[in-house]
Amino acid sequence: MSAAPAMANIVSWGRYPRGLPRQVVAARFRDMDIADLPMPLLCYGNGRSYGDSCLNLGGCMIKTRGLDRFIDFDPISGRLRCEAGVLLSEILDLVVASGWFLPVTPGTRFVTVGGAIANDVHGKNHHLNGTLGHHVLALELIRSDGTRKTCSPEQNPALFAATIGGLGLTGLIGTAELQLRRIGNPYISVETTRFRDLAEFFAISRDSDRHHEYTVAWIDCAATGKRLGRGLHMAGNHAGRGCLDRPKAPANWLQVPLDPPVSLVGSGSLRAFNALYYRKQLARRKVAISHYQPFFYPLDGIRDWNRIYGPRGFLQYQSVVPMHLGMEATREMLGRIAASGQGSFLSVLKLFGDKPPAGMLSFPRPGVTLALDFPNCGPRTFALLDELDRVVADAQGALYPAKDARMPGSLFAAGYPRLNEFKRHIDPAFSSSFWRRINGAAL
Ligand SMILES: Cc1cc2nc3c(=O)[nH]c(=O)nc-3n(C[C@H](O)[C@H](O)[C@H](O)COP(=O)(O)OP(=O)(O)OC[C@H]3O[C@@H](n4cnc5c(N)ncnc54)[C@H](O)[C@@H]3O)c2cc1C
Repeated sequence: MSAAPAMANIVSWGRYPRGLPRQVVAARFRDMDIADLPMPLLCYGNGRSYGDSCLNLGGCMIKTRGLDRFIDFDPISGRLRCEAGVLLSEILDLVVASGWFLPVTPGTRFVTVGGAIANDVHGKNHHLNGTLGHHVLALELIRSDGTRKTCSPEQNPALFAATIGGLGLTGLIGTAELQLRRIGNPYISVETTRFRDLAEFFAISRDSDRHHEYTVAWIDCAATGKRLGRGLHMAGNHAGRGCLDRPKAPANWLQVPLDPPVSLVGSGSLRAFNALYYRKQLARRKVAISHYQPFFYPLDGIRDWNRIYGPRGFLQYQSVVPMHLGMEATREMLGRIAASGQGSFLSVLKLFGDKPPAGMLSFPRPGVTLALDFPNCGPRTFALLDELDRVVADAQGALYPAKDARMPGSLFAAGYPRLNEFKRHIDPAFSSSFWRRINGAAL
């Protein structure tokens, strides 16, 4: 462990809330001792969580990116063991050429293995393959009492289920072993279909989920009236070995070079972007071969894109509601967003599958998930999100902590029925800004 890397780097992806931890230490060795660090402790992976679940303002943060070593990779079985600070992008760089891929990946590859496990991340294949936690074979957990515990579905299974999606509160994940997925090449066969409304989205998704490993839809959340709920549905499968198209990985990176003094995202630009994006495809259905990077990680092509929202940052809002209320609740939320004039660039809609959750606090569950981002315009944004909370609560849904900076504790408790069971596994030295906020606790 080495002392005090720059505190300025400790920020979440939404850049809200802001503040400083009391101390920052960098983890370098997986046999480290965390017993002497000042409480409360929290690990910080690569800060790709949007709100305050990766923050410990006023507390001690352990930066884990230094735990960046691969330990073992078997190209025959696809089992990979590494330290928890390794990025998913680094795994892909190592394994794709030998015909392996991540079993589940979120919409950015710049997340650490430990961070991805602590939020039990999901991707476009949830309907078939569940969450990352379903593919973790084992992990090693370092606790503040000096013990190190190997956890897996067979060994310490309750602590394992608490740590998968456990928001970093059960201790420091030092290493993890993952089961990767076989691929023939780095390409994805993608089918994009325009849909005019939510009824069409549900019909296309249900059909497409039977034939495609990856499905997701972008939705125009500025559309109103008859156009409400229109969007583009993307469905993909890994291309077969015989695939002749060889599109290149995008080579050039764009970067937002500085922090603009105000948000560059306004209601006019949001409406224009949404209308243009909907029309980017003239045909109702298009089929193409894509390199895996633009298919899975369209936003990774613009470094630091979160800066365009200016110094006040932005808020993500990801909900899940049960399938039978999905259409009604989604329509209600989209209607309220359009009426408020506070649109979202990237509104994403997907049907989750029905695999039982891997972790006690895993967010994904059978139902419809809607992810939105809003520039932080102060009280009027928070008032809109309170309205959306009521729709989610009425539908007995839940919000995703990895994307949250403001949900009330009552909504969290209602959405996570195994919360009391989980609490028994928390490491007493660990806490986070999210956890204190949800529990109404002071530092
Ligand atoms: C563009 C973009 C797209 C995204 N798309 C998706 C998506 O499709 N699906 C999805 O599920 N999520 C998505 N996310 C969210 C992101 O995948 C998660 O927030 C992820 O957990 C971030 O990982 P990180 O390494 O940055 O961890 P951080 O954000 O730094 O931390 C996340 C949590 O992990 C804990 N943690 C980190 N390392 C350790 C460790 N070694 N031991 C114990 N706890 C640890 C932290 O304490 C914190 O609670 C997206 C984020 C972005 C920016």
